[in-house]
Amino acid sequence: MNLTIAGLARLSVCDWPGQLVATVFLQGCPWRCRYCHNPALMAFGAAGVVQWHEVWAHLLSRRGLLDAVVFSGGEPTAQDGLAAAADRVRELGYQVGLHTGGAYPKRLASLLPRLDWVGLDIKGLPAEYPAITGVVTAGDWAWASLRSVLAAGVACEVRTTVDPRFHTAAGLAGLIDILQAEGVSQLVLQEVRLPSGTSAGPSAAQLLDELGTLPAGVSRRAG
Ligand code: SF4
Repeated sequence: MNLTIAGLARLSVCDWPGQLVATVFLQGCPWRCRYCHNPALMAFGAAGVVQWHEVWAHLLSRRGLLDAVVFSGGEPTAQDGLAAAADRVRELGYQVGLHTGGAYPKRLASLLPRLDWVGLDIKGLPAEYPAITGVVTAGDWAWASLRSVLAAGVACEVRTTVDPRFHTAAGLAGLIDILQAEGVSQLVLQEVRLPSGTSAGPSAAQLLDELGTLPAGVSRRAG
């Protein structure tokens, strides 16, 4: 299998809400988010630390015990072997989930028929992406991916990491409106986890408190 695998979580109850999953972390991401929790997974060309045969052996041994496999990262759609890997795990009887930031909309569109669920990071409005990701075109790709997922009708949870360095309460309220107008039915606002002392301004929790009661279909998750 042509995959560079940076890690395997053998059992997760949170990577796909409501499902018992194994999560496969793929190496490499084209973006450089300032709040990234997995910076070691950014580099392309880093050697994998888990072999596919180890993943496969685990999945063989857990048939009937786990519901699904989630491919995460890094940015898993960066890897050419993802489609074949998704097909293989489905042949074993597992559902297939994907965590993505939507950096490769064409590849994501071709993967969607293979997927049962997508956890899609939408980091803000397109214009906010360069400051967050360090990549000028990132917002265009992410929002193209969002529209592709919604058009395909694949079950999807959109996640926005709330970071007071990039977001305001008013901006988040506008983002919620726009995402719901696009057709997003499940949106999770996640509080960023920053080292203490990183920001002298309001915390992510305070920004979310300012929003008050959230609309139906929108929830918040502690950092
Ligand atoms: S897209 Fe995700 S993995 Fe890539 S740098 Fe941003 S937070 Fe990290």
